[in-house]
Amino acid sequence: MREGKLGSMNDLITALQLDNQRVIAPKKKGSRVLFAELGSPEEFTADYLITHNSMKEFFFPQSEVLVDFAYDSEGVEVNDRLPESFPETVIIGARPCDARGQHSLDAVFTVDYEDDFYLRRRAVTTIIAISCTKTDAACFCTATGGKPDGTDGSDLLLTPLADGSYYVETASPKGEEFLSKHESLFSPAPERGQRDAAVKPAYDALRTDLDGDVPMAVKGWLDNYANYDSDKWTKLVANCLSCGACTFSCPTCHCFDIVDEGKLGKGERKKNWDGCQFDHFTLHSSGHNPRERQPKRWRNRFTCKFKIYQDKWELPGCVGCGRCIRVCPVGQDITEVMKSASK
Ligand code: SF4
Ligand code: SF4
Repeated sequence: MREGKLGSMNDLITALQLDNQRVIAPKKKGSRVLFAELGSPEEFTADYLITHNSMKEFFFPQSEVLVDFAYDSEGVEVNDRLPESFPETVIIGARPCDARGQHSLDAVFTVDYEDDFYLRRRAVTTIIAISCTKTDAACFCTATGGKPDGTDGSDLLLTPLADGSYYVETASPKGEEFLSKHESLFSPAPERGQRDAAVKPAYDALRTDLDGDVPMAVKGWLDNYANYDSDKWTKLVANCLSCGACTFSCPTCHCFDIVDEGKLGKGERKKNWDGCQFDHFTLHSSGHNPRERQPKRWRNRFTCKFKIYQDKWELPGCVGCGRCIRVCPVGQDITEVMKSASK
């Protein structure tokens, strides 16, 4: 690991944009702060707890054309729509939980099958995370194995210091390369104590009611098949509206649907985000729906996060970012389900 100091975020973004890099970073939009492409360095905002959207859409867009096709009585023509190349991209301002979630998403699009669209975007993207110096009541990263200044899944980690500069540490070979390429922007690292002092308020404020044995106990409860039809599911998620906001905002939710759209004779095959909370997600063409009621859909989402990810990849399916809690219109809180499912 190499360390250094970045004096000015503005200088970094300017240098990247002059180098024709696409820069994705936190940007104000109305009352929200979103990950979005920056038109200029001034659009970057450091005034955010966590972006409203996760960064998954920059690797796995909400909608994407995979192929187009045309057919007539002579035959069928299919054209692959995988671009020759994707733009070199730097994502600045991911929180450590986001970066960790991207690591989990990598497994989905790499191990079970290789998604060229995802993998090519991933290859040309550098993730520069920024440590958390504050938290809110929805944050619970430490309960899932994360840290406000964790480096898992990022290439570089920046920690904001009191004088407006950033403490820099590399977290991957790509991060090392980045530091070397932009050497002139960085100076020697200050005392590491300054960095640790900057993240201490986040550590001090993090909730502790889920630490210790809770995640393991949740996994043990889910492993016990006797709990598959527990009446807890109905009691815990009775308010859920099936709106899917939790799945779309989650950095690790990755369900999608493949649909053909077009007119007679030609069309496009698209990959669109989908979500296991929607009532039609498992609807069969026969009309049968194995998850016809919301408790079964919630059970699926929760089991995916706290059992399936671990069983398949030994990776976290939930990184404790708290987005699903903040966006839920009825106040459904995944940590309440965790607590109940740990007893
Ligand atoms: S389940 Fe909720 S808290 Fe966990 S990673 Fe997804 S959005 Fe974040
Ligand atoms: S955001 Fe809330 S109401 Fe909407 S599907 Fe998720 S848990 Fe249910």
